[in-house]
Amino acid sequence: MKITIIAIVFSLSAIANAQEYVPGEVIVKLKSSNGSIATSAFKSKASSEKRMRLKGSWKNLNMLHYSLKAGDSVEAAISDLRNDPDVEYAEPNYIIHKSDIERGSPISEQEFRSLSSVEANGNQDGSFTQTAANIQADEAWDSVSNNGERPIVAIIDTGVDLYHSAFTRWCALWENSAEKNGTPGVDDDGNGYIDDINGYDFVNKDGSPMDDDGHGTHVSGIVLGTTQDLLAIPEVMPVAGVCNDSYKSRVRIMAVKFLDANGSGTTSDAIKAVYYAVNNGAKVLNNSWGGGSYSQSLHEAIAYAYDRKVAFIAAAGNSTSNNDIYPMFPANYDAPNMISVASSTSTDALSYFSNYGEDTVHLASPGSSIYSTFLGGTYTTMSGTSMATPFVSGVAALIAREQPGINGYQIRDILLSSATSVNTDVNGKTITGRRLNVLGAVNSAKGAVVDSSQPSYTISSSAYRGTASESAAAGCGMVSTLLNKPNGGGKGGGKGLGFAIMALLFSPALFLVARRKNANRRKHERFEVHSQMKLKVGDSELVGELESISLGGFGFDMEELIEKGSVVTVKLQTPTGEKEIEVKGKIVWRDGHHHGVQLMERNKGILQFIKQMITNFSIGKA
Ligand code: CA
Repeated sequence: MKITIIAIVFSLSAIANAQEYVPGEVIVKLKSSNGSIATSAFKSKASSEKRMRLKGSWKNLNMLHYSLKAGDSVEAAISDLRNDPDVEYAEPNYIIHKSDIERGSPISEQEFRSLSSVEANGNQDGSFTQTAANIQADEAWDSVSNNGERPIVAIIDTGVDLYHSAFTRWCALWENSAEKNGTPGVDDDGNGYIDDINGYDFVNKDGSPMDDDGHGTHVSGIVLGTTQDLLAIPEVMPVAGVCNDSYKSRVRIMAVKFLDANGSGTTSDAIKAVYYAVNNGAKVLNNSWGGGSYSQSLHEAIAYAYDRKVAFIAAAGNSTSNNDIYPMFPANYDAPNMISVASSTSTDALSYFSNYGEDTVHLASPGSSIYSTFLGGTYTTMSGTSMATPFVSGVAALIAREQPGINGYQIRDILLSSATSVNTDVNGKTITGRRLNVLGAVNSAKGAVVDSSQPSYTISSSAYRGTASESAAAGCGMVSTLLNKPNGGGKGGGKGLGFAIMALLFSPALFLVARRKNANRRKHERFEVHSQMKLKVGDSELVGELESISLGGFGFDMEELIEKGSVVTVKLQTPTGEKEIEVKGKIVWRDGHHHGVQLMERNKGILQFIKQMITNFSIGKA
């Protein structure tokens, strides 16, 4: 089955966002026609004239990471940089969060074994129980080839508990042999990173990507547990540091830490993590995180992975939000190797928290109350699209195990076409209407013909999947909100929110206009429309003219003046009068006879009506 994705191209300058980013930092890409001389000229100019301090650079990519002069705003710096003839683009360094929302209390391996044998009816699947039966993991394990291939899955996350027995007894962690056998304190393999034996820690900038949150360890256990029984014990336990064929896992886990102990990170570190993983041999990148707005630099990193035949699996997000309307990044990047994953329950319904998207989310995978590995050799449950994503990554690795030369888009084709069609709300809320199936994917991979010359993929400027140029605040930002709830990952996300900066507009012209017209920090891009609207007052209706609309509210002109702060019920009509909808909102500003209303509820019908108004009747941006 061939899946077609419609890519919709937006102008970055038109996006009004309510996003979190690191204050005082920018990512700059220099024009590719510029050689090293121009790069050094730009660096010199940035340092002496703009007083920016270089924090990092990406070799051969013309990309630079800067901190700004104290007190300089990111918006002003970006406006300035975009007028610089040497600069291709400049963007904020967005803040990103892990995508789990609930976690249970840790239990010992012994407790987990007894629990799992009861729950799984004697079938020791480790994490899965009913879930394992649904996705046909056991059957798949009987079917995988014994070809000795051990594809690498990079866990781009909070790190991994490198000493957890579930990993060590199967030698499941990727090892950089040059570093393992090399000299401490020396970059033995010359990859730019010192002592990166099992991966790298981009938060603390060292070669020990130990998990200080638990999220990455849980995700890693799900990847391993999808490919083999997580609780199985080898006949002979490996002596520390010595692995041989009798106890090797089917896939290897590469620990790439870029999220801190609170589960937060930045675009710049995410990009470093992606390049590190790809350059060091990962075949599958597991990305159980999201946040920020469209970032061309991150998009380019994903395209880089595509070019090197690497699959990029991403969590759809946990805010019960429609990614078609509120793009979630990285899941919404329109790359052929991108697989966006929703979360389903043990009965194959969409998990209550899961984001979805008929045009943007590829498939569902189990993500509600999943047992897996946790810190200190323990086990626990977690929920989230964070947990759904590594099941897909594990299967992607099994596909690559059957067909080592396979590329990212083919892995996606196999995953999607072999998944199980389900008769739940997953159907209609995802592109395929399907839930992951391990056995189907492995069998399908056996017969696959590897495309040795995959189609090239070029990023058209700021292309992503989604139907409205809309901030990801509802899609991704809410993840942080959920994380801050008690029992919702507890410590997660809070730190990043401290940096929240609202209402960033990228285009200098738009920025000025917005500042003048919109002191109340507009979150949603507003479009000019002209149509009749009626405001209900008791039993009577006042008639006015709808002047503008956005996904967050609308503006209208009316003879009568309505007091700011009033809660109103309004009937909106399409200009043709064929469709009418009633909405509830609050008057948030008034300027003469012009009123601004913020929507107080936004169900699917309302959002569809607004999208229809914007698509069919808007005469431009307001
Ligand atoms: Ca190294």
